[in-house]
Amino acid sequence: MTMKVRAAVARDVGGPMRVEQVELRSPGAGEVLVENKASGLCHSDLSVLEGKSPRRFPIILGHEAAGVVVECGPGVSSLKVGDHVAGGPMAECRTCANCLSGKTNQCLRSDVMKDAETTPFTLDGLPLNALAPVASFSHFTVAPEYYYSKVPSNVPFEVACLFGCAVMTGLGAALLVADVTKGSTVAVFGLGGVGLNVVDGARLAGARMVIGIDTSPQKEATARAFGVTHFLDPARTPDLAAAIIELTGGGADYSFECVGNADLMTVALRSTRPEWGTSVVVGADRRPLTAQPFDLMRGRTWKGAMMGGAKARTDTARFLRLLAEGKLHTEQLVTHRFDLEDINAGYDLMRKGESLRSVVIY
Ligand SMILES: [Zn+2]
Ligand SMILES: [Zn+2]
Repeated sequence: MTMKVRAAVARDVGGPMRVEQVELRSPGAGEVLVENKASGLCHSDLSVLEGKSPRRFPIILGHEAAGVVVECGPGVSSLKVGDHVAGGPMAECRTCANCLSGKTNQCLRSDVMKDAETTPFTLDGLPLNALAPVASFSHFTVAPEYYYSKVPSNVPFEVACLFGCAVMTGLGAALLVADVTKGSTVAVFGLGGVGLNVVDGARLAGARMVIGIDTSPQKEATARAFGVTHFLDPARTPDLAAAIIELTGGGADYSFECVGNADLMTVALRSTRPEWGTSVVVGADRRPLTAQPFDLMRGRTWKGAMMGGAKARTDTARFLRLLAEGKLHTEQLVTHRFDLEDINAGYDLMRKGESLRSVVIY
């Protein structure tokens, strides 16, 4: 059985995406049919669209999903029809070697649809690829149940979808990868959707100083609401590392690079306290990292993680509890809302750096 669904399809590198009628098959064993209600626009989709992160086209992008379970395939045990769910690019099957190790969030079953043979979508009779099984730029999708977490029904979909990627990446970087300690000093480079979640996490962990660095001074007010205590504008601060070392009295205990610029990652590392500082690479860049061996020999740690090291189901549930307890500022991240038809305009805003998070609302 197949159904016709509305999806924004990128036929070629460079875009634009166009809304088309595509075919979607019914859920098989262990799969759910989800009606997407909201999808965040993430920079990783743009990287694929621009050909910086090679994938097979045509493709349905979108990997920050919130929706409702409409149908369950045979054997689905963690979800039922009517459940509100959030899903992202990572799976958590809880049975593969990586999940069982307890040491990583990188489930070996993630990204099962890299291979277009397994995609549930077809277009003009040919397999239609999806960046992630949650395919949140499609009104409906079919994906294994282990991509989804149940979301309390009182959480708005536009907030819930951010738990698919931005919240996981940012909160995870602060709380799981760096494990920010009470009374510590923190520097966050880049105050977009991910960076502000790092700030949320650092404040929650009890950091006494959170230095936010961003080229858009208009972000300062929002950043302070999330917990930034000091704001640095690179245009007025030629030597960021020196400024951070001075503010913190020797270097930040933790720094996070959320821009995706390899040169800035070096600055972020050198901004940390030489004897025990930890710098976390959150943004992605294809250029090599540079550091003097002595930068690390003194005692610094340089780390990275996919999706903030956060497990797609276990940690999503944990972070949603923090939201329910009123400890997160997630709803303030949603600055723009679009219909699926206007999705390209959302990415134009992202290119101009004028949005925190844009969300497609179905
Ligand atoms: Zn993302
Ligand atoms: Zn797994």
